[in-house]
Amino acid sequence: MTERYEHYINGRPAAPIGGAYFESTNPATLEVLYEAARGTRDDVDAAVAAAGEAFENPLWRDLSPTKRGHLLRRLAELVGEHAEELAVMETQDNGKLLREMRGQLATLPEYLYYYAGLADKIQGSQIPTSSVQILNYTQREPLGVVGAITPWNSPLTLTTSKLAPALAAGNTLVIKPSEYTSRTILRVAELASEAGFPDGVVNVVTGYGAEAGAPLVDHPRLAKISFTGSTATGASIASSAAARFIGCTLELGGKSPNIVFEDANVDNAAMGVIAGIFAAAGQTCIAGSRVFAHRSVYDELLEKVANRARGIVIGDPMLEATELGPLAFDAQRQKVDSYVELGVSEGATVLTGGRRPDVDLPGYFYAPTVLTDVNNQMRVTREEIFGPVAAVMPFETEDEVLSLANDTQYGLAAGVWTQNLARAHRMARRLEAGTVWVNTYRAMSPMSPRQGFKSSGVGIEHGIESMYEYTRLKSVWINT
Ligand code: NAD
Repeated sequence: MTERYEHYINGRPAAPIGGAYFESTNPATLEVLYEAARGTRDDVDAAVAAAGEAFENPLWRDLSPTKRGHLLRRLAELVGEHAEELAVMETQDNGKLLREMRGQLATLPEYLYYYAGLADKIQGSQIPTSSVQILNYTQREPLGVVGAITPWNSPLTLTTSKLAPALAAGNTLVIKPSEYTSRTILRVAELASEAGFPDGVVNVVTGYGAEAGAPLVDHPRLAKISFTGSTATGASIASSAAARFIGCTLELGGKSPNIVFEDANVDNAAMGVIAGIFAAAGQTCIAGSRVFAHRSVYDELLEKVANRARGIVIGDPMLEATELGPLAFDAQRQKVDSYVELGVSEGATVLTGGRRPDVDLPGYFYAPTVLTDVNNQMRVTREEIFGPVAAVMPFETEDEVLSLANDTQYGLAAGVWTQNLARAHRMARRLEAGTVWVNTYRAMSPMSPRQGFKSSGVGIEHGIESMYEYTRLKSVWINT
């Protein structure tokens, strides 16, 4: 019989009030992995009520920040102890390489340790006033019940990026994970209980966006919503939050440029371009999907990228030798396929890929694809494909490539490959992107704040700045 997962509410599994479940499938093998509770408004109400009570409960409300830090540290240890189990589950759920998930999970405790260390460093300040008799100081308070809605591409990392700062600041949480990746988030909620977090501090409602996500966003008791996902969903969440004047942090889509100058080390740049677009089969928000190569190195770069793309080992993501797994679900594969077709109808040439590769498994595999004869005005270069499709374009001058790179609705990340230090700084200053990498791509750390510019987001994740987004500032005046 198929394994079944319930919601996690008030420190224990909770059956869905409507009694319905949905299936989760392995995208490599197409086997049904498990069933998860199909959440509705009623389940969300129960989870938000539990989180609201936990927020008021002295067990959590009056816990010293140092002890909150201890609980996060204990959770970090438990996540570390269960890293292998969690990595296997994530690979089975979303098809990403097991070795990549092992790498991600190995660093996951760092997110918890980082915010554990900050929990007792949240402080206000004393403000000078015009009279010695008047004392004015500020204090930072938690917000209350925070909703966290997350996608399927890096479920645990993206959820922990919200959970750790929100809990460090003293909030309680209701998480709605992606319907494609429910169980690792449920497992972490269980581990939070095991670590000693009081009941109701971490709650998870599984299910679909429209049925479980939307009621969470709209819940009147919510003090903040933190969302990672597509720009379209982010826009609807932002308007709901705006109507109620609650805070929202949005980490959204991208169409990031990866720029190779004539003075770059072309071998390194080619590897950076490959990793930027083909890691996780291009299903990363920061995918370097628009590649700009200086005319003088365009042919050389293209050859290196295409040759490497043709040699990528595609197959079972559980195997160590595999370099590219399947896309996460069928709609993803269809979307990628139809974007490549669209590109061709717009005049693009498929240099390599553009089809299902020969793989011994029935899953949603798609070959690493390189498109040429493209320009920055086509839909394939303007819209997020979220798959292993690189569009490579030549350029002549620094000013030209800057304006091409910035000519997009997105502003999540950008890569620059150059040996010229002054140019590197100039580009970092002028690129409209929240993260700029020079001679590297995809580097990330819980300590380093990241923000999506333009349609790529609102607010900050990671770093101290992220924790402050889970607090509000109060100004206290005392006439002494
Ligand atoms: P998605 O927007 O379809 O879904 C994300 C989450 O929102 C899921 O849990 C989903 O169930 C829920 N959801 C969907 N509709 C909802 C609604 N109306 N109300 C409330 N919740 C709703 O995105 P996805 O396909 O899961 O993820 C891929 C997208 O995420 C890509 O656009 C990618 O660029 C983006 N992403 C961004 C970052 C970042 O840090 N900027 C990181 C990873 C992924």
